[in-house]
Amino acid sequence: MQTKSFVLPKNEIPRKWYNILADIKMNPPLGPDGKPVSPDMLAPVFPMNLIEQEVSSERWIDIPEAVLDVLSIWRPAPLTRATAFEKALGTPAKIYFKNEGMSPPGSHKPNTAVPQAYYNKVFGIDNITTETGAGQWGSALSFACAQYGLTCKVFMVRISFDQKPYRKAMMQTWGGHCIASPSSETKAGREALEKDPDTPGSLGIAISEAVEAAVGDTSGKTRYSLGSVLNHVMLHQTIIGLEAKKQFEMAGDYPDIIIGCAGGGSNFAGLAFPFVLDKMNGKPIEIYPVEPKACPTMTRAPFAYDHGDTAGYTPLLPMHSLGHNFVPAPIHAGGLRYHGMAPTVSQLVNEGLLTPKSVGQMAAYEAGVLWARTEGFIPAPETTSAIAQVVKEARKAKEEGKEKTIVFSFSGHGLLDLGAYEKYLAGELSDFTLEDAEIEKSTEILKNYPTPETIRSR
Ligand SMILES: *Cc1c(COP(=O)(O)O)cnc(C)c1O
Repeated sequence: MQTKSFVLPKNEIPRKWYNILADIKMNPPLGPDGKPVSPDMLAPVFPMNLIEQEVSSERWIDIPEAVLDVLSIWRPAPLTRATAFEKALGTPAKIYFKNEGMSPPGSHKPNTAVPQAYYNKVFGIDNITTETGAGQWGSALSFACAQYGLTCKVFMVRISFDQKPYRKAMMQTWGGHCIASPSSETKAGREALEKDPDTPGSLGIAISEAVEAAVGDTSGKTRYSLGSVLNHVMLHQTIIGLEAKKQFEMAGDYPDIIIGCAGGGSNFAGLAFPFVLDKMNGKPIEIYPVEPKACPTMTRAPFAYDHGDTAGYTPLLPMHSLGHNFVPAPIHAGGLRYHGMAPTVSQLVNEGLLTPKSVGQMAAYEAGVLWARTEGFIPAPETTSAIAQVVKEARKAKEEGKEKTIVFSFSGHGLLDLGAYEKYLAGELSDFTLEDAEIEKSTEILKNYPTPETIRSR
């Protein structure tokens, strides 16, 4: 039997996160007055210890023992060679995947939910609010809050709340309180319901509700939490890439190509950032964040200042954005239907350290099904986008007769997304095309905001 999985012993789990802000310069987030946001302006929304991480430029940040205790329920996560998939593709490329589908909620998201719950706890916070679209983030945060005895309130977009009852049941099992958004509990929710009592809801409204519920709690014991995009989220996810580096040493190998699907950018960044550091130091690596053609933030949208949410409550962030009112086609990869991209990932795209790619929904499911039939694990719809890019690279390696080493982030399993597979297998899914005119229209709003500077860090 060939060694397929490289499993780190428990005591080899990384003890520090890698903070890319030590190695790149960024445009600052801006407030409503167009001036940089100061950390204390964020204090009603996030606990100060997380705000400090958000703005820190320390290269290495210690992972607290109490966080490692919980992460070690499923970490270190295996780095596995996809030999059966390679064989099916007839490629000389070596394909490795970092399996983030082994966590209790089934994705990479608890890598940040756990430290976020911990830092809230030690700051004296009792309750966390958040929003969730398809339910992956809400379930990760419910799990994490249960570990530290915090209450968790999740505003779940109405349409998913109705369509995905099992995600809700997961949250409830972990003690989370999941309510449909818009709700009558907040002003933002009541206004949305007044406008349209039958609204399917949106992530934008749900964010507004969750922020309002946190800031509005006068006891001072409630804060809000976000599952992607922000610097501290990317920081927490770097445990993925730091483990992978050690595992490549065990395997006696090193990647030529690194791939991850990117919605807000966090699982991609988690795998890629520790290798970006090597690339800055001269390693010849190709690094590809992959987005859906239906929501082409990095490949077709401008780098601009925009709000992170639809309601415009958040500071202006420097990022690739389709405009905060952009509504992507209803592709099943719900986690990739975000109008913006993490500022850190966006900045690295600008600097040419990352090369963004896009794939269509049909190619993604085709790759996902081939994956399931060879490697066994059924990938999350989001993850299939990364796999589709892996297929392209593996075919290219075959044409060129090159033995490339490819690694990708297997961001989660798809066992709660079988409805989407059912539709694909019944021939009911299709690709969507997005016209230039639509992008021009949705990005019109960005002209109202300041233009970020072109910064070259190196
Ligand atoms: C949420 C999610 C994503 C997208 O979020 P990122 O922040 O871009 O990683 C991708 N894959 C899975 C399985 C997810 O749950």
